[in-house]
Amino acid sequence: MSLGVLGGTFNPVHRAHLRLGEAARRHLGLERVIMIPAGDPPLKHSGIAPARHRLAMLERALEGQEGFEIATLELERPGKSYTVHTLEALRDAHPGVSLWFVLGADALAQLDLWYAPRRLLELASLAVAQRPGSARDLADLVPASLATTFRERAPERWVHVSGQELRTLSFDPLDVSATEVRRRVARGEPIGGLVPAPVERYIAEHGLYQEAA
Ligand code: ATP
Repeated sequence: MSLGVLGGTFNPVHRAHLRLGEAARRHLGLERVIMIPAGDPPLKHSGIAPARHRLAMLERALEGQEGFEIATLELERPGKSYTVHTLEALRDAHPGVSLWFVLGADALAQLDLWYAPRRLLELASLAVAQRPGSARDLADLVPASLATTFRERAPERWVHVSGQELRTLSFDPLDVSATEVRRRVARGEPIGGLVPAPVERYIAEHGLYQEAA
């Protein structure tokens, strides 16, 4: 059995997150995708809505969606939210299950800045989706210091020395980011095309993201 893991700040969750999870589920034959909101994301600093709001929006976005689940382990763990610790916890909770960590090209390109990236590559396979303007080839995305830890490098499928894989997902780039959602809300512009309707309502009801992003 294979499970997908999609971690993010989800500040707020938007349509590309949902499309990304769905694409991973379909293309990799995953039983389900576990969405994991970060408690204290190490690489993002300003304008982060409280965790209870980010979680509530994720719950609303996923209501009635088959094949998704939310895990709150990063919200409950004190300190910075390191993906390595999350993957270790998921491995313990699901012994014998293959984990696919799903991420956008921007995140892969910065993987060398994450905590213990070499260990991360041993714990899960990675599925990467293009973002608008991002490089297409894995060779142009994977940071040089990590590229040397892969033993096979076909154009769309690399194999790590641990046996875990790195694959590109077939995914039509979608020009949506949480930054753009926050910016539009702060300017009073519509966000209907960028987030699911229940998330749009939640943002309005709770007056989130009124400050300039
Ligand atoms: P922000 O704009 O605040 O930096 P974001 O839109 O990148 O946020 P995150 O919650 O940081 O959202 O993203 C979680 C994961 O989803 C990351 O791996 C990110 O690369 C991926 N992702 C987000 N938006 C897209 C997109 N439009 N296409 C592909 N992947 C995406």
